[in-house]
Amino acid sequence: MKIFNFSAGPAMLPEEVMEKAAAEFTNYADSGCGLMELSHRGTEFSDIMQRVEANIRGLMNIGDDYAVCFIQGGASLQFAMVPMNLMLPGGFAEYADTGSWASKAAKEAKLFGDVKIVASSKETNYDRIPVIRHWRPDPKASYLHITSNNTIAGTQYHSFPETEVPLVADMSSDIMSKVIDINSFGLIYAGAQKNLGPSGVALVIIRRDLAERVPEKTPVMLKHKTYIENNSLYNTPPTFGIYMLNLVMEWLKDKGGISAMEEINDAKSEALYELIDSSEFYRSPVDPGSRSRMNVVFRLPSEDLEAKFLSGAKKAGLTGLKGHRSVGGIRASIYNAMPIKGVETLIDFMNEFESANR
Ligand SMILES: *Cc1c(COP(=O)(O)O)cnc(C)c1O
Repeated sequence: MKIFNFSAGPAMLPEEVMEKAAAEFTNYADSGCGLMELSHRGTEFSDIMQRVEANIRGLMNIGDDYAVCFIQGGASLQFAMVPMNLMLPGGFAEYADTGSWASKAAKEAKLFGDVKIVASSKETNYDRIPVIRHWRPDPKASYLHITSNNTIAGTQYHSFPETEVPLVADMSSDIMSKVIDINSFGLIYAGAQKNLGPSGVALVIIRRDLAERVPEKTPVMLKHKTYIENNSLYNTPPTFGIYMLNLVMEWLKDKGGISAMEEINDAKSEALYELIDSSEFYRSPVDPGSRSRMNVVFRLPSEDLEAKFLSGAKKAGLTGLKGHRSVGGIRASIYNAMPIKGVETLIDFMNEFESANR
């Protein structure tokens, strides 16, 4: 039976990508060496590095004033590296608190300077993105940090705050799912395991001038500047993650790029929200204007029914639908690699389950 995996991350990868990787794992490009045996300074891997950067730049339309870096430690290390590198001496940073990842990021920043929470939806259980036009960004802030898609709460920014200070975004769960203007951002980071590839590597895109702020006495591996100056090859990079990321980029290009993917993502999420909104059985806890197109969170009339739903879904080949342990409920993560067919299968199952259990 074909399984559709709705896990929030590590998440589904395109089938074509996994098949190609499986074949190249034991013999990369007829080199006679397996992919994991290639030197990170050899010609084969250097070629992968050049292609992945060029592909990312092309897909996201990134200019030369930005650097593209590959860093281990996931998005969570960037929670610390962002303030270590961007906090001005004696300065403060602004954070929007839109969920547990956002608040973890703010907590790390407090180790390196003052943190002001400029907007929060904590009081309403993170059910929305606070209205951006009510924010008062301070022009003296070192930067403003947002979490563009809140993977657990199922909320997403559909427009970004306008600010004079560098805008920093944790885009772990919606990078490359829709077209954005890179020039609105100072720094973007994303753990790869949601929308870009496997775990083990984070993609960091940073405006070059901002990387100069870093205090001299920062460990070399924790400076963005080190990755920029050495093309992410100061030490041994996570070669498998970078290789996989490149295969996903090539797949994305084949599919027509990010704007084509955005249309598919809109269609997938709209179909699910339409069913939820037209049903008396399913319910969305998220404010309609803030709903995520990547993580569709919903509830059933009782927790018993939710447990029954999850076990029935699993039997129907639909896995990974359990909501995050901190919030419960159901969460369908429908990143780029989730085909429309997967969402259609889920919708059929939801309709049948409702009829049988209403
Ligand atoms: C998953 C996730 C993280 C954590 O990523 P790691 O790579 O595991 O550190 C951070 N932010 C968001 C928005 C996420 O979805």
